[in-house]
Amino acid sequence: MSKGLLIVLSGPSGVGKGTVCTALRPKMPRLVYSVSATTRSPRVGEEDGVNYFFKTKEQFADMIEADQLLEYAEYVGNFYGTPRDFVERTLASGKDIILEIEVQGALKVKEKFPEGIFVFLLPPSMDELKDRIRGRGTEHPDIIDHRMSVAEDEINLMRHYDYAVVNDEIDLACKRIESIIMAEHCKIR
Ligand code: 5GP
Repeated sequence: MSKGLLIVLSGPSGVGKGTVCTALRPKMPRLVYSVSATTRSPRVGEEDGVNYFFKTKEQFADMIEADQLLEYAEYVGNFYGTPRDFVERTLASGKDIILEIEVQGALKVKEKFPEGIFVFLLPPSMDELKDRIRGRGTEHPDIIDHRMSVAEDEINLMRHYDYAVVNDEIDLACKRIESIIMAEHCKIR
């Protein structure tokens, strides 16, 4: 059996990675979604084991120590990481898996899985990105400014990716990602 594809969807915070991933689910029901571990507190409506595995700093440190994370990154004061076992088992079973993670973590995955497909989601413009980060209404102004400056640095790392997808409209962005995955399955390796 051939291995599944590892797809990494990344891009600056607020660009809509989560929204695009949610919209992709019904369109690509066979695609498996990796659930990350984080030390951030749950937002209203988020569920443990569904949106994230919510961990204390100590529990997260234990996961790092036990080499249970494929990658992890500190992002705006919290830790986020991808549980390794689930990704490896999914790929070995021949299924495609998608990781929705920030840019530093994506680059670490690239070191370990250079054969992965790295997709960078772009905002239509930087003004639009700030509106989206503000519009979420869940963050303090200092955190919004910090997320914007992180976003500018992150966009400079786009050159390490295989594909750039503009998130101007959710449905269009999903179509572009579906097309990328379809083309990658047709690729002669
Ligand atoms: P949020 O707090 O808004 O849910 O996520 C903040 C950032 O962390 C987002 O850019 C999100 O994609 C990223 N993120 C979520 N899970 C992971 C992960 O497992 N690893 C890394 N490196 N970033 C993650």
